[in-house]
Amino acid sequence: MEREIEGRTVRGVEVGPETRCAHYDTELDVVALRFACCEAFYPCFRCHEAVADHRAERLSVESEASAVLCGVCGAELTPEEFVEGVHECPECEVAFNPGCADHFERYFAFEE
Ligand SMILES: [Zn+2]
Ligand SMILES: [Zn+2]
Ligand SMILES: [Zn+2]
Repeated sequence: MEREIEGRTVRGVEVGPETRCAHYDTELDVVALRFACCEAFYPCFRCHEAVADHRAERLSVESEASAVLCGVCGAELTPEEFVEGVHECPECEVAFNPGCADHFERYFAFEE
């Protein structure tokens, strides 16, 4: 399914109004992420697996592209702002799920 959130297209499974999905739906799960292969944002990599018809291509962590959408205020972060950040939105200060850090490599390609 697909949903407009703060003017952005978010695709996934059971996407909620603040970018929660069938896989991640706690209080803290309020970001959607974009992959290098897609214009749309996805609440999580499993959503991309479920609804996209291609393999996910990760954005470089050094990319300047907007890669993370805050589902609460619509702010867009670069990979670096998200990865280096303090698990909260720089605009509205909502808390992000710190557990995301355990699988950053599913979303972003880190150069050696
Ligand atoms: Zn894609
Ligand atoms: Zn999901
Ligand atoms: Zn925000």
